Amino acid sequence: MSQPPSASELTGTGAHACDTLLSLVADTVPVMLAYYDARQLRCGFANQRFADFVGRPLDSLAGSSAQEVIDAETWQQIQPSVQRALNGEGMQHVCQRQQADGTTRVLEFSLQPHRDLIHGQQAVVGLMVLVNDISRHRQAEHALRQSEERMRRFAEATEEGLVFHRDGCILDANGAALRITGYTLAEVLGRSIFEFILPEFRAVSMEYTRRAREHPYELALRHKNGRAIPIEAVGKTLPQADGAQRVVIMRDITARREEQEHARYLAQHDTLTQLPNRRFLMRQLARAAVEAEQRQARMALLFFDVDHFKTVNDSLGHEAGDRLLCEMARRLQEGVGAHDFIARAGGDQFVVLLQDLRYRGAAADMADALIRRISAAHEIGGTQLSLSATVGISMLPEDGYSPDELLRHAAAAMQYAKEGGRGTHLFYAPYMLGQPAEALQQEHLLREAVLQDALRLHYQPQIQLATGRLTGFEALVRWQHPERGLLGPDEFIPLAESRGLVTPIGRWVLREACRQIKAWHDEGLPRVPVAVNVSAMEFRQRDIVSEIKQVLAQTGLAPEYLEIEITETTLMQHAEHSRTTLQELQALGVAVTVDDFGTGYSSLAYLKRYPLDKIKVDRSFVIDTPNDGEDVAIITAIVQLAQSLQLQSVAEGVETAEQRRLLQGLGCELGQGFGIAAPMDAQAAHAWLQTLPTMTKP
Ligand code: C2E
Ligand code: CA
Ligand code: CA
Repeated sequence: MSQPPSASELTGTGAHACDTLLSLVADTVPVMLAYYDARQLRCGFANQRFADFVGRPLDSLAGSSAQEVIDAETWQQIQPSVQRALNGEGMQHVCQRQQADGTTRVLEFSLQPHRDLIHGQQAVVGLMVLVNDISRHRQAEHALRQSEERMRRFAEATEEGLVFHRDGCILDANGAALRITGYTLAEVLGRSIFEFILPEFRAVSMEYTRRAREHPYELALRHKNGRAIPIEAVGKTLPQADGAQRVVIMRDITARREEQEHARYLAQHDTLTQLPNRRFLMRQLARAAVEAEQRQARMALLFFDVDHFKTVNDSLGHEAGDRLLCEMARRLQEGVGAHDFIARAGGDQFVVLLQDLRYRGAAADMADALIRRISAAHEIGGTQLSLSATVGISMLPEDGYSPDELLRHAAAAMQYAKEGGRGTHLFYAPYMLGQPAEALQQEHLLREAVLQDALRLHYQPQIQLATGRLTGFEALVRWQHPERGLLGPDEFIPLAESRGLVTPIGRWVLREACRQIKAWHDEGLPRVPVAVNVSAMEFRQRDIVSEIKQVLAQTGLAPEYLEIEITETTLMQHAEHSRTTLQELQALGVAVTVDDFGTGYSSLAYLKRYPLDKIKVDRSFVIDTPNDGEDVAIITAIVQLAQSLQLQSVAEGVETAEQRRLLQGLGCELGQGFGIAAPMDAQAAHAWLQTLPTMTKP
């Protein structure tokens, strides 16, 4: 039995210092270490750990054979590797060893052949055996695998989408994330997570990632099919050996959003008519007011109140009333433009918001057109009934900017209009809401205006459509208000009517119009007649005929140069009085025009019996032509009616060349409107008359 080589022999140095150094190293390394000679596989050297491992005292190991110290089971496992190592191959072998206490240890054997020269030839003279207990290492690996597996199972089981990424680059995603987005795993791996986020949310999302924020926020993803999906996401940073990863936990909140939307819809709409409710109206108004102010645009608020609605409810029942309201809501909706806003303000009240109005009159036109729609007959439970509505109008900027103010003013104007007779519109004026003192003050100012020459007349030309020849002027009254500037008749005639001032104003208008026209005639300007408007109240209260006689005599104007415009409604309301008055005017030689024709309900029988000269198609029919086919049909019918009664037809509110051509084509003889000439003050009208070629002068 040869002696195992000493440490110095092993290292080939032969120094004693080296011997102790090797022992020190051998006992310091955290492995079991032994040297066996190649010939007999007897131990030449081992460290304490090896001795502990084989369960023998260290000093008994020298000279013992490998088979003796290693248990049979382990020996069997490593023997093939030993053989190969003896043949000169460095070997590694992992084997499991059952311990006495029942636990299993995992050992890693490393066999390194020791070569040397024997008889001048390289040969394996021994084996260095290193045994490493890697049981703990293996356990850790196993635990990690198990944890990953658990993680994966969890990830697949949850309905939350999970996406793992590093700096945005997608590393992994679970089934829920793929279901939410519609992609396969292969399609998302390696791509940037931000690519899937809608552009408007990208910056926020990147910021959350960059700052490693860990609280939830809402964003939207683009589904593979293009649809945007609202998401609630929360990112968590996972520190890893190779740098931090983020896991994004996301939840599809489409359903939640839909619920919210639905709740919001319910909160903002009227359940009966489905129109926006008052709360929605106020918000919309606030928004529109800000916009209008910024763009310096004009906006109108139309406040509708259905006339005598209570009677319907009382006599036909609430269900009939409800159906009627729904029908009115529908008619209103059909009657306004796509950008106009309608709300139900409560009960039988509706509000229409008109934006970007070019002029005040457009609000009045829309109000009249909508009143007409509402008033058309309804069929409720086999009964035909027709209800009209009264409208108050407030304007931005004239009547205020705040939603509250605009609504209050429009409602006040509506109330005021109800008192003066229903079925019409009325613009808001400060006296309607103000203290009685305010109304008194306005009344006082208006009285002063009549006395002190603060009223003005504007003149709007009327022409023959075919030739462009001037056929007359319409006189339109204005009030030069000391604070509010030049006011149109809509803004003060209602006040005048309620304060008994309509007669003095009407008298002034008649006298001034006749005086002016006569003055122009005397100057040698074209001799055309002037038309003067007479309101329903004036028609009832004033003795028009004797006044006219007097004025004509005083001004020296020939009767054929004066015309009176009376609305269709006025004529029909006072049938007997109308007939006698019209006959007297005819006898006097003063022509009469039926104004605003088509807005009232004419009885053909009356029309035939009245001595009339012209029928004026209301401008609300003209405004939407040529696009509105229904309006074209109405105009056609009115023009034909005029022809059959041998009356001249006049279209008012002609704004475009297209409308002018259309009207002429329909056989309408005369026209008036901004597209021909706007109303002008006396000075401008005078200048305008002078520009006319003399040949057109009659
Ligand atoms: P009206 O008799 O229908 O008068 C025509 C109105 O239409 C005028 O408004 C005129 O400025 C406007 N107009 C003219 N061309 C166009 C156009 O192309 N497009 C549009 N959208 N409108 C156009 P104004 O002057 O504000 O008069 C409003 C109403 O006030 C008149 O309607 C008339 O009923 C009444 N009115 C005017 N002057 C008097 C008056 O002296 N006495 C009485 N009692 N009422 C008057
Ligand atoms: Ca008129
Ligand atoms: Ca008119």
